[in-house]
Formats: sequence, structure tokens, C-alpha cells
Amino acid sequence: MTLIYLDGQWLDKDAARVSVFDHGLLYGDGVFEGMRVYGGHTFRLREHVSRLYDSAQAIMLKVPLPQEEMIAVTEEGVRRAGLQDGYLRHMVTRGVGDLGLDPRKCPRATVIIIFDVIAIWPPERYEQGLTLVTAGTPINQREALSPRVKSLNYLNHILAKIEATNAGADDAIMLDAAGHIAEATGMNLFVWKRDVLYTPAVYAGLLKGVTRDVIIEIAQEAGYRVVETMLNRYDLYTAEEAFLTGTAAEVAPIRMVDGRVIGGGQSGPVTRDLRARFHKLVRG
Ligand code: PMP
Repeated sequence: MTLIYLDGQWLDKDAARVSVFDHGLLYGDGVFEGMRVYGGHTFRLREHVSRLYDSAQAIMLKVPLPQEEMIAVTEEGVRRAGLQDGYLRHMVTRGVGDLGLDPRKCPRATVIIIFDVIAIWPPERYEQGLTLVTAGTPINQREALSPRVKSLNYLNHILAKIEATNAGADDAIMLDAAGHIAEATGMNLFVWKRDVLYTPAVYAGLLKGVTRDVIIEIAQEAGYRVVETMLNRYDLYTAEEAFLTGTAAEVAPIRMVDGRVIGGGQSGPVTRDLRARFHKLVRG
């Protein structure tokens, strides 16, 4: 059952309504999170909530409830919705104001949590891998709107996704202004080459994915060497294996990028191993 928490109220999907004067809608002025529920428990709840509050802090948005209460409300909602396996969407917007941009006109942030189910890639994609193209739309420039802020401004990402769809691909790789690989439209990227697992460094300007952090941890525990660095498309084209990570997608292999077949053109042994270890962690 889909359940909505809206500013302290528990509502069903059709009853949950926000004002057309909410600055989240008028200006994309707000932040969000996407979390996953496995076996009735929200995976890495504290990490996600902490990232939500960091995103809010970065845009000078005061979340009207303390982190501990956000955690408690999330756990309560999962129970109320009876979710075993689910997907959660937290949003904090600047709140209701007037038609001007001035956030001082918005006295109270709007807090929304959607408790829902998950839609993922079809199973064969996890065997055969995803087809990607490089988007012409770059990721936000770090000092304009840091990609580390999980903000309600996802237009660059949406435009990149449209480019992927137009090209008949599953998703797009987004580059930064200097041409370094940042991430896919809603997933982080890893490359396996000559016994090293590489992933773009976050300070370059990309979202520090919770799944990315988990994969780094799992890989290091399993004895893989992990390096966070700058990567270019060359590194991806010439990889032995490559995969994407995210809360919804978990670990998804990459089959092809810009027409180049990556490695064996399907999920490789390292990707399979890390995917299996990830599943064991979340479902075990
Ligand atoms: N990058 C972007 C732009 C995202 O929106 C997301 C989350 N959908 C990710 C990466 C993956 O982050 P996480 O593992 O925390 O879901």
C-alpha cells in the first residue's frame, strides 16, 4: 500500500496534496532522498537521513524536525504501510511562499515521505548489462549547484536521460565541464581494469551514493583494491568490466558505451561477485 507522510499527517496517495505556491514546485527549491526497504528494514537509513540533512544545510534549508525524529517517522511509516520490500522518497521543500524567489517568504519547509514499492530494471539487464551513451548535457558545475546536493533540480539529469532514450540506450553517462566522467543519470559508476576497481572521486562533483559507499566497503573487505580518482571515457571504453550502482538499481552491469562493447559484453566475474555480496548484505 502506498502511504504518504505530509507535514505530520498520514495520508493515502489521493489525499496527499501540496500547494501550487510551494517553492519545491515553483523553483525546484528543495532536497530529496531515495531509500530502499529490505525485509521490513530501511537499508542504511541513518546514512540517507544524514545526506538529506547535509543537502538541506548546503542550500540553507532548515528541516523542521530533528534527524532522530525523521528516522523515527520513517520507521513508523514502513510499519504503517506494511512494507517488506519497498522504496521510500523523502522530500523537504522550502515550503509555501509567494511567487517571488525570496525564501524568507516561506516560513516553514514542507516535509513529504512517500512509502511505496520499487520498480527496477528487468532481470535480463542484470545478466546482459545496460547500454549507455555519453550525454551532451554535462552534470551541474560544482560551484553552481553541487551535484553532492541531492536537490529537486534534476533537469540536467532528465535531459541526459532523454538523450539516452532518443539514442535507444538504457541510460547516459554524464561528464563534468572538463570532460571527466561523473556518473550516470541516477547511478554511480565503477570500472574494473587490471585488478583495480576504479570509481570517480566525489570531490570532482557527483552524488556520493550510499550504494557506492557500500560497494567500496564490500569490495575492500573482499580484498579488492579500490581507487577513487578522475576517469575519462577512455577508461570506460577500455575497461574489462564496468557497472553502475544505486539504491533502486543496486548493482547493474554495463554492456556497451557509445557503441563500444565493454569487456565480455555482459556481467563479468567481478561485477557478479560484488552483486552477490551486495545481495547477501541487504537480504541476508
Ligand atoms: N547519482 C545520482 C544523480 C542519483 O540521483 C543517485 C540516486 N538515485 C545515485 C547517484 C545513487 O545514489 P544512491 O546509491 O545513494 O542511491
